[in-house]
Amino acid sequence: MKKIKRGISLIDQHDKNGFWGKFGGNFIPETLKKPVEDLAILFEKLRKDKKFIYEKDYHFKNWVGSPTSFIKLENLTNYLGGAQIWAKVVSEANGGAHKIYNATVHSLIAKKAGKKYIVGDTGAGYAGKMLSMAAKKFGLKCKIFMGVKDIKRQKPNCDAMKKNGAEIVPVYTGSQTLVDAVSECMRYWVSNCDTTHMCVGSTVGPNIFVKICGWSTSQISKELLIQIKKEFGKIPKKIKLINCVGGGSSSFGFWNEFMHYSKKQVEFIGVEAGGPKNSKRHAAPLTYGSKIGILHGAAQYVNQDTEGQIEETESISAGLDYPGVSPLHCFLKDIKRARYTAATDEEALSAYQLVTKYENLNPSLEPSHAFAEAIKIAPKLSNDTVIIVNSCGDAQKDRDILKERLG
Ligand SMILES: *Cc1c(COP(=O)(O)O)cnc(C)c1O
Repeated sequence: MKKIKRGISLIDQHDKNGFWGKFGGNFIPETLKKPVEDLAILFEKLRKDKKFIYEKDYHFKNWVGSPTSFIKLENLTNYLGGAQIWAKVVSEANGGAHKIYNATVHSLIAKKAGKKYIVGDTGAGYAGKMLSMAAKKFGLKCKIFMGVKDIKRQKPNCDAMKKNGAEIVPVYTGSQTLVDAVSECMRYWVSNCDTTHMCVGSTVGPNIFVKICGWSTSQISKELLIQIKKEFGKIPKKIKLINCVGGGSSSFGFWNEFMHYSKKQVEFIGVEAGGPKNSKRHAAPLTYGSKIGILHGAAQYVNQDTEGQIEETESISAGLDYPGVSPLHCFLKDIKRARYTAATDEEALSAYQLVTKYENLNPSLEPSHAFAEAIKIAPKLSNDTVIIVNSCGDAQKDRDILKERLG
């Protein structure tokens, strides 16, 4: 496949083995094949079920808080000159970020499957926190797999998970971070899938998990399409949708409904975590041309050394700190539908300072990477260009690190 077909979401344009071009698939042990297949069948049924869709929309509206605002950053626009800068304030969603969409949908699926337990992985702790919120809301018992290194450095999120009644399962293997937490979680699921549903926290993992997550976060672009039409009367001639990319769920969800516009009209820009300035470490497998490898059941660009060992990532923003990236984005890069770049820790911090100086918006360090790119390109563009940044997280969670770095 070289091009995106019109009229069908990209999540459904994989081949019969689950690949988008060279990416994705199902690299899973034999024992996982049946539960993964069962989940795929159930999901296909549910997404066509009017009652299920009604239920999902009801909870998105009344619990998650949809739609989130679409606002113009008038002061920042005037200061920078050039393109108009707008924000989709997804951080208004319950829990302060987009991960709640995926967590909600997985919890609803678990209920329909008759499962009493839900398990998930987390690195920085936000996927875990959001899943524990959704599990509590929908009456499921929740276990979160988390590397011990992350448990030590993410105490507030661990406290939140416990408060929501979730059990945190410490992972001692490998680098004791997210990569290992996902692996352990999958291992646990193999032996417990009769009673337990598994949630993967981003558009990564075996094919069906990429699809469920992408389907859930697409709520963002569904809302945005309506909001743009209302604001401008039609879709403007030049739009740039800028989003940070970790696993790729917020960015995919932000772009999905615009996939069929020409890239001249709607450009997608994904901003990865470039890590500290003057350091070789980063979390930007798309930008720095990493090789294709298999991670968590799918083929994708992965940060790896010459022997194929996963390389440790580094970024100021915990949410972007992942060595791989969604097969959907690997595919969009290969067909050149999206452009990927990286912002350094320092650039993200300066962007945070500039945005908060001019606007009543408090973007977390992840979307601050996206703002860094917007700030870079806006002055060179004309005023009829509309830049929209997905402000997908609230900086409340980054309080300590912001204080440490900025005083
Ligand atoms: C987890 C997270 C990300 C990165 O994950 P994606 O799947 O790329 O969206 C980005 N921003 C925030 C606020 C997050 O919590």
